[in-house]
Amino acid sequence: MEMLCPNCQKSMYELKDSLYSCPVCQRSYKQLCLCPQCQQPLEYLQACGAVNYFCHYGHGLISKYQVIYQFAPLV
Ligand SMILES: [Zn+2]
Ligand SMILES: [Zn+2]
Repeated sequence: MEMLCPNCQKSMYELKDSLYSCPVCQRSYKQLCLCPQCQQPLEYLQACGAVNYFCHYGHGLISKYQVIYQFAPLV
């Protein structure tokens, strides 16, 4: 999946897990996974090669296709 920079909308490359860097802005961003229903951070679950996310605010398991990705700049 292509991740776009929240600042300039150019595609970013992955530095390591959940950490992306924008070559244009020369900044790094941490990827946050949010619940599509309540916009709260999700817990990352990995089982048998399948990745799922869990919402602790009553929305249960969220598939990775529904997750909202947001990027927080690293300082
Ligand atoms: Zn950028
Ligand atoms: Zn939720």
